[in-house]
Amino acid sequence: MLSVGPDPALVERKLVSGELSCPDCGEGLAPWGHAAPRFVRVTAVLLRRIRPRRGICSGAAGCGHSHVLLPRFLLGRRVDAVAVIWAALLARATGLGWRKITEMAGRPASTVRGWLTRFATHAEPIRVAFAGLERRVAGGDDLDRLAPAEGRTADAVAQIGAACAAVRRAWGSAVFTVSVAEVVAACSGGWLLRARPPAAGGLWINTSPHL
Ligand SMILES: [Zn+2]
Repeated sequence: MLSVGPDPALVERKLVSGELSCPDCGEGLAPWGHAAPRFVRVTAVLLRRIRPRRGICSGAAGCGHSHVLLPRFLLGRRVDAVAVIWAALLARATGLGWRKITEMAGRPASTVRGWLTRFATHAEPIRVAFAGLERRVAGGDDLDRLAPAEGRTADAVAQIGAACAAVRRAWGSAVFTVSVAEVVAACSGGWLLRARPPAAGGLWINTSPHL
């Protein structure tokens, strides 16, 4: 999966002109049909149907993998926008309970608990992966000094924030108009709440600047 911009016409142009890179090996992607349709929850009661594009790694030295090009306002296998999910994780990091967060998010309790539980389960590997991303993006520059927070979820959320800030500093105007939540989605390749934890090496994080 590759997290791409929200404008399908622009994504199509980049895909056709070979500007999108394979998140696995960095070679160019070529058009490869569409993914299965999926629903996006725009509001608590409104669902929208979208059909993401797919690309296939087609470089001479490429790995040949195909990838769903997921708009960066979404996370893999989640119908809710990353803005809503990220707001819930931020609220959790400040110590709010799931009932309050559910109320705030305006989403079913089981859905919200699912996000919080999945994130908490992988909070430590997520934190480590984003710390690696911050180091890579910052190069030799100073890293944000993070103090230990109240628990692993809060630690991971703070580290994600620091990594995204480093991305914004490094890529400047290219990400100026992109929300923090969307930077989170793009930096995790859309897999923030995946079933498996990220690898220690942080290879799952897509650092291509195609925001
Ligand atoms: Zn590849």
